[in-house]
Formats: sequence, C-alpha cells, structure tokens
Amino acid sequence: MKIIDKFGQDRTVFSLEVFPPKKFKDNINIVYETIEQLTDINPDYISVTYSAGGKGNTDNGGKIASMIKGIHNVEAVAHLTCLTNSFAEIDNTIQTFKKYGVENILALRGDTNPDIPPKKDFTYASDLVSYIKMNYPEMGIAGACYPEVHVEAENDVQDILNLKKKVDAGTDVLISQLFFDNELFYNFMKKVRLAGITVPVEAGIMPVTNANQVLRMVDMCGASLPRKFSMMIQKYGNNPEAMRDAGIAYAVNQIVDLIANGVEGIHLYTMNNPYVATKIYENIKSLL
Ligand code: FAD
Repeated sequence: MKIIDKFGQDRTVFSLEVFPPKKFKDNINIVYETIEQLTDINPDYISVTYSAGGKGNTDNGGKIASMIKGIHNVEAVAHLTCLTNSFAEIDNTIQTFKKYGVENILALRGDTNPDIPPKKDFTYASDLVSYIKMNYPEMGIAGACYPEVHVEAENDVQDILNLKKKVDAGTDVLISQLFFDNELFYNFMKKVRLAGITVPVEAGIMPVTNANQVLRMVDMCGASLPRKFSMMIQKYGNNPEAMRDAGIAYAVNQIVDLIANGVEGIHLYTMNNPYVATKIYENIKSLL
C-alpha cells in the first residue's frame, strides 16, 4: 500500500523512524526486539534510514523493512539517497527493496561527503523522484522538507521553490526535518501552501532524551532551540532519568499543539528507543 492512501481520512497519520544499527549482524536480536515493540504501537508506517556507501546498508535496511511488513504487517518506507549512486546502483537497490516487499521510498539527495564523491547521475532529490516515477510507478514516494530552511539553500523562498519542483516531479508526501519550535513549522506551512504545494506534510518530532544528543542534532541540522527547551536542558541535562522524562513531555506538548492546529501527520524520530516512543504514543493516542 502506498502511504499516501493513509492520509485524508479525518485523522492524523502517526509514523515512526528507525535506523539499521552499524553492526547489524551483532545486533540482530536487538533490532528484532525494537521493531516488535515499535509495531505494538500500531503506527501507520515505519521508515528505515539509509546511509550512503556500502551494499550492507541497502540490504540491512531492506531486511528491517521486510521484517516490519512481512512479520508485523505494518507498512514500511525505505529511505534512499541518490547523490553518490549511479542509475545502475539505484536500480539494484530498488530491486532489493522490492524483493523485500517494500512499496514506498523516501527519496533523498543525501548530504555531501568529501569521502564519497558524487556519481553525477543524480544532483537533487527531485531527479531521484522523477527516476522512480518513470521506472517504478508502482512505488509510493515521500520527500524531505525543512521548516527552518535547508542549510545549503540560498534563502527560504528558493528552498520552497525547489521543494515545489520535487513535489511536481511526483512526491506524494513530505516529511519534515525535526524542529523544537512549532511556530517555525506553522510559518513554513503557510509558505508551502502559498507556493501551491498541496501534498500532505508530516511534522518530524525528535524526543530529546539526553543533552549530548541535542548538541549533535543541532550541529547536524541547525534546528533552533526555543528558550523553554534550552532551560530544560540546562536544568535536567545532568540527570538522565529526569532528562528522559522531560524530553518525552516536551515532545508530547509539541505533538498536542500540532494536532490541535490540524497537522496531517506526526513522524517520530524514535532513535531506536521503543520505551520513549511508547510513552509518547500512550500520551497522544486518543488525539490521533
Ligand atoms: P534536495 O531536495 O535535493 O535539496 C537539497 C538542496 O538543494 C536544498 O538546499 C534545496 O533547496 C536545493 N535544491 C533542490 N532542488 C534544486 C534545484 N532544482 N536547483 C537548485 N537547488 C535545488 N540522509 C541520509 O543520508 N539518510 C537518510 O536516511 C536520511 N533521512 C532523512 C529523513 C528526513 C525526514 C529528512 C528531513 C532528512 C533525511 N536525511 C537523510 C538528510 C538529507 O539527506 C539531507 O538533509 C540532504 O542534505 C538533503 O536531502 P534532500 O533530499 O532534502 O535534498
């Protein structure tokens, strides 16, 4: 089933994101347990991240996706980056995904990496979207978007115009980068709709449960930190249990406000932590 068919039924879509652990074989049982606990939440779908550079990534991502779908009967979305892949490599990966029963791809450009040169077949995610649309029309296609503007974009207007190209190329659904200030998301959504982008947009929520994780995340994606968020880190950052509970409460508050404001979907970056994802779900399930 294409994930686009989950939207527009007078309810809020709730999805989860997991990543294949680096030492997949050593951690296979942990992966099984994580997925089992996450699927107990009965999310609309679970997406599996992709890391550029190495066949193992494709295969492990595909295996996790097949477990999600085949064993737990939850729709799976496989992430796929294109910048460092040739047409043939993309074909090979999509064939692997198909072998594992995956019917949806989150089509991404991927970050530039000095250690892995680009292959030149694809420059932007929109190129991958067009390629999938033309060669694998049976696949559902999701794309990424950035409420605080993508770090490489010239400005917010240009970023939205580029996003429109990606949607016009055939993206069914957008999933946002994480953010901690809902007002930024609401402003972004106004611009998205003004630009004539009509596809559903899911809000990406990252529950922050330890202080070091925040610093890494902010460094990676440039998310701004509202004062109440910084105060929380300052007060509870050295107390792991309090930080975990405060991070869960912060994410729940964000989600309650988003749903009250009519968001079409919540995409939870679980960091492979079923305890946190379950606690959040328990707090919001009656609102979805
Ligand atoms: P694009 O949509 O191609 O945009 C990249 C930049 O190019 C933007 O600045 C955009 O404004 C600009 N641009 C786009 N089209 C044009 C054009 N036609 N002309 C000029 N400029 C243009 N990374 C991973 O490696 N693995 C993952 O699994 C992964 N999952 C992610 C999931 C989500 C929900 C999100 C939000 C991000 C994820 N990322 C992942 C990170 C992503 O790969 C990076 O943010 C990357 O830098 C941009 O990818 P994109 O698909 O958004 O690129």
